[in-house]
Amino acid sequence: MDLCYDEDQQAYREAVRQFADEVLAPIARTKYDFTQALTRKEVQAIAAELERHEIGTVAPLTAAGQPDLIYLGIFIEEISRIDLAFAALANALFFQVWDMAALLRSERQKQLYRHMFGRGEMVAIAMSEPEAASNPSEMRTRARQAGNGWQLDGHKLWTSHAAVAAGIVVAARKGAQDGPGHVSLFMVDPDEEGCEITPIDTLGMDATTLCDVRLTAVRLPAEAELTPGADGLRAGLHLVEQARIKVIFMAVGLAQAALELAVSYAKQRTQFGRPIASFQLVQEMLAEMSTLAETSRLLGYRAASLMMRGDPARAEVSRAKAYSTEAAVKATSLGIQVHGAMGLTKGYAAEKVFRDARMLTIPDGTTEIHQLVIGRQLTGVSAFR
Ligand SMILES: Cc1cc2nc3c(=O)[nH]c(=O)nc-3n(C[C@H](O)[C@H](O)[C@H](O)COP(=O)(O)OP(=O)(O)OC[C@H]3O[C@@H](n4cnc5c(N)ncnc54)[C@H](O)[C@@H]3O)c2cc1C
Repeated sequence: MDLCYDEDQQAYREAVRQFADEVLAPIARTKYDFTQALTRKEVQAIAAELERHEIGTVAPLTAAGQPDLIYLGIFIEEISRIDLAFAALANALFFQVWDMAALLRSERQKQLYRHMFGRGEMVAIAMSEPEAASNPSEMRTRARQAGNGWQLDGHKLWTSHAAVAAGIVVAARKGAQDGPGHVSLFMVDPDEEGCEITPIDTLGMDATTLCDVRLTAVRLPAEAELTPGADGLRAGLHLVEQARIKVIFMAVGLAQAALELAVSYAKQRTQFGRPIASFQLVQEMLAEMSTLAETSRLLGYRAASLMMRGDPARAEVSRAKAYSTEAAVKATSLGIQVHGAMGLTKGYAAEKVFRDARMLTIPDGTTEIHQLVIGRQLTGVSAFR
């Protein structure tokens, strides 16, 4: 067992770090305003800019043609260090889009929807609702047959990127209003009549949006159903599960960013006539931050290794997701402490990484839901359905 990067992985890490520092940092700090939601045009311009650099879009593939999750982890960690928005956008623009494009099966669907998966475009996934989020099986959005097609009515909440997406995959229950109905996935054009999208202001992740999506008598052709005869809930949850490994390394990147900021500040800030880095209690905070980042990283790589081998990894992914996101909150909070009042200053990097980290314990399964998954694996008893 070797828990270190090999030579190629180390070289890749250095190359992504250099790309992040030299190309991404200026984009976030001077070219676009990352303190507010990026527009669709800005997202497309950033996507084009990333694509100009070979390293900006894809991590290497395994021999089987799948993304190598260790390299993917390195990539996501390093770009999250600069701004979490880069990792969220890269995920939506370059990774998630492939999982979703696989839902287009017929030639007709490809004709109708392929443009939504084009370069610089994103497709959002709308599973969560006001009354059904940790438990999406309680979703109420309805798809009724209307003529040869469908009519969608419902209310989706917290849909990432919907305001700038070219398409939205909406999970809806088929059939009459109060019937049990199977869940299926439907492709919705955000410009469709009856589809109303409102961005929601949240604590962190300033440059990307979470959205409220209201669907009122939205008419769709028959081909809009992406999972006919299949379990659409399972297919939707599978898309969410694919995102988890990336969220783990986003959290690692934020913890690492907080650590680097804190070390740098501790070495230059003086009190009592000495750099604060020389105080043992400050060093203790730095030591704890580095341990939180490193343990998260190792749990992430263990989950990634199991996934790449095709071994069961559900509990390992849950352990890594729950741990790394909570660890990022702790590490970024300690980072603020090292900076003193300066760390609380709005717009200062220390408070930004804390706000961003705080966003990650909730999506793709809350910490509590992942703990229940681990508990189920340990005991064989499910604490939820
Ligand atoms: C940054 C971000 C991005 C997101 N992106 C998307 C997206 O693209 N698409 C989408 O569909 N959704 C998205 N979501 C929504 C996300 O999936 C939900 O927020 C999440 O499932 C939790 O649902 P909730 O917020 O309604 O909390 P609730 O489900 O109401 O839970 C509230 C609290 O109760 C706890 N809880 C719930 N059930 C149990 C239980 N059985 N046992 C113990 N504790 C429990 C939770 O852990 C939590 O602490 C996103 C959310 C965030 C924050």
